Amino acid sequence: MTSQQSGALRHVVVVGASLAGLRACESLREEGFDGTITLVGAEHEIPYDRPPLSKKVLAGEWEVERIRLRKADDFESLALALRLGVRATALDTHARTLSLDDGTTVVYDGLILATGASPRRLPDQPLLAGVVELRTLADSVNLRDRIAGDTARVTVIGAGFIGLEVAATARALGCAVTVLEGAPSPLIRGLGVEMGAAVAGVHARNGVHLRCGVQVASLEGEGGQVTGVRLGDGSLVASDVVVVGIGVAPNTQWLVGSGLTIGDGIVCDATLSAGVPGVYAAGDCARWPNAAFAGFDDQEMRVEHWTNAAEQGAAAARNLLLVAGGGEAEPFSSVPFFWSDQFDSRIQFVGRAHGDDEVHVFAGSTDGAFAALYGYQGRLRGVLGVSMPRMVMPFRALLAANATWAEALAKAASLTAG
Ligand SMILES: Cc1cc2nc3c(=O)[nH]c(=O)nc-3n(C[C@H](O)[C@H](O)[C@H](O)COP(=O)(O)OP(=O)(O)OC[C@H]3O[C@@H](n4cnc5c(N)ncnc54)[C@H](O)[C@@H]3O)c2cc1C
Repeated sequence: MTSQQSGALRHVVVVGASLAGLRACESLREEGFDGTITLVGAEHEIPYDRPPLSKKVLAGEWEVERIRLRKADDFESLALALRLGVRATALDTHARTLSLDDGTTVVYDGLILATGASPRRLPDQPLLAGVVELRTLADSVNLRDRIAGDTARVTVIGAGFIGLEVAATARALGCAVTVLEGAPSPLIRGLGVEMGAAVAGVHARNGVHLRCGVQVASLEGEGGQVTGVRLGDGSLVASDVVVVGIGVAPNTQWLVGSGLTIGDGIVCDATLSAGVPGVYAAGDCARWPNAAFAGFDDQEMRVEHWTNAAEQGAAAARNLLLVAGGGEAEPFSSVPFFWSDQFDSRIQFVGRAHGDDEVHVFAGSTDGAFAALYGYQGRLRGVLGVSMPRMVMPFRALLAANATWAEALAKAASLTAG
């Protein structure tokens, strides 16, 4: 699409230089957009991949250069106006301008917001060395240096996927690792009570001390260095390193007052339009009604997974171009997929899990490798596999087609037959 075909679109600004933002830039060029693309990113790094930050990079097995999403010279072929180390601070959708924290203003014809999410912090706690969150390359390198000596006592607050991946990596390096979780079971939000406990069994088998149903009262320190985590019952979990992994919040504060609708993410329509001409959102910061889950009460969703960010970045760019060229935007409908590596287990999930789901283990056994279906109101909602890759992806198409529970059971039977 030349600038003539894309109508009035001459300058597209993408905010957020990570996975969704990069895929948006790539898609604009692939579709033939030959106007200016400005990529604004708060980090100084060219886009890199986050999943290895809690796995191979943290373990010290991969060099940092290996996780670049595009090599430097390959990057140049996109012909981007790069504004790295610069944060967008305000958006004026009437004037179509963006204010940046270096004091400059950028005028856009089209805008893609891909600002991702940031770790939630423990409220009202002192600033102590040794207390870390994990979102950026710098966070990962900092944590790697603290656990590399294999003698650190590492406490992870929060038994979600990232917390458990850090626990597994630190334990594999030889650290003494405790995981503290307030809920009765790990991974509840991602997998539900029963399967969360089953998946986390690998931690007990590898010597991680997993404590659920405990409340964190405060962080304790001496001379500015963390010494432990005080629990609600008054006891202290002595720690050299504390990793806070209590979830993330979308990076949308800077958009308050812009006129966009914000509500646990940038609220978009089915095409990822943020409700203002020429403005789209993608990735961890975007909330949209996903037609693949039509009829379920949580059809409107925000997804915090790699595959979604990549797919949405590309889709938002295509829709921006389609509409600018006088066409009609296409709804973005997708079945979420994620993976997680913990010790020698590869966990994969397609679809969505919900506390009320019926769960049916159809292959293997929950004390090792297994696969399970998640169903709700007579329909398939998700499929979990632990070290069973061939049992998961075949269900993605069924989920996209709104398969019934009976159809899912039949598919499971066919996969396990013979
Ligand atoms: C340690 C870790 C491990 C993970 N492992 C997995 C995994 O195994 N499987 C999986 O599916 N997913 C995993 N994920 C999740 C996955 O990496 C994210 O879903 C993905 O990075 C989201 O991409 P994004 O581009 O939407 O946002 P982000 O990657 O969060 O990037 C957003 C970018 O925007 C920048 N930004 C924010 N605000 C502004 C602003 N105002 N101005 C300019 N720039 C701004 C940020 O600095 C950031 O660079 C993991 C994430 C982490 C942190």
